[in-house]
Amino acid sequence: MGSNNDISLKALAKINLGLDVVRRREDGYHEVRMIMQTIHLYDRLDIKRTKEPGIQIQTNLSFLPVNENNLIYKAAKLLMDEFSITDGVSVKLDKRIPVAAGMAGGSTDAAAMLIGVNRLFSLGLTKRQLMERGVDVPYCIMRGTALAEGIGEALSPLPPMVKCPVLIAKPSISVSTKFVYQNLKLDDTTIHPDIDRLIDDIKAKNLHDIAAHMGNVLETVTIPNYPVIDEIKKHMLSNGAVGAMMSGSGPTVFGLFDDEDTAKKAYKAMRSSHLARQVYLTSVYNNRK
Ligand code: ATP
Repeated sequence: MGSNNDISLKALAKINLGLDVVRRREDGYHEVRMIMQTIHLYDRLDIKRTKEPGIQIQTNLSFLPVNENNLIYKAAKLLMDEFSITDGVSVKLDKRIPVAAGMAGGSTDAAAMLIGVNRLFSLGLTKRQLMERGVDVPYCIMRGTALAEGIGEALSPLPPMVKCPVLIAKPSISVSTKFVYQNLKLDDTTIHPDIDRLIDDIKAKNLHDIAAHMGNVLETVTIPNYPVIDEIKKHMLSNGAVGAMMSGSGPTVFGLFDDEDTAKKAYKAMRSSHLARQVYLTSVYNNRK
């Protein structure tokens, strides 16, 4: 991929097949149990090593920051400072992953940037060493199917989830992660997804059972506030999805399908429905075969 001075990388998005909030900790953080799954929807980063020092970012989306507020910048700076790199880098980010949408778009770009800088400057860091640098980023470096516990930092790999088409639809609303967590009510009446059962279904590679037992406790906040999320789920289900759910704190909804033709038809139907502004047909990604 490119010469020694440039590299082109894919930064893959994730969905959550399960998301449970176990409790709110005294320090305000939430203890979670989440099943993460990488999908083939990605941003592309074209990274070049430059003689001029500094970190230059260009992107196709005008509203994204290109300064130190971009997670790509933070990732590059982290490694470049640590290794006292005096040359610079320039990055062209082609963003396709919906932004602020529960798909770890920023974190996966940061993960790709760590990998890119490590290679371009021959730093010799292993995957594990890269995973140690950066919050939220470790899973994006690890990829595949995984359980995230604690405040999301305790990662355990799971056997690869069965491969299937995945329909992604993001409505044109913005949902703040902070708002969702602040408005989450955890009491005796809360219905928690059964994450252990879902793990068993993943191990058994049974797509229909996975779909039946998926659950995201954050939907209890977002769906009453943003009914379009439920409309998108229903649209996917009535167009043949075996399961449909919101990812992360939303508002992106994903649907799982057991055959490509049905998924293609559902994709077309979603596009003409105008329920969602960004619609993609993609698939489950597995790094461990
Ligand atoms: P998560 O699933 O981890 O909650 P998210 O999908 O909610 O992530 P992101 O798309 O990662 O959220 O971005 C959240 C915010 O971070 C955006 O408002 C954006 O301005 C900022 N940001 C900084 N760098 C990036 C980047 N490279 N890509 C996307 N957003 C970025």
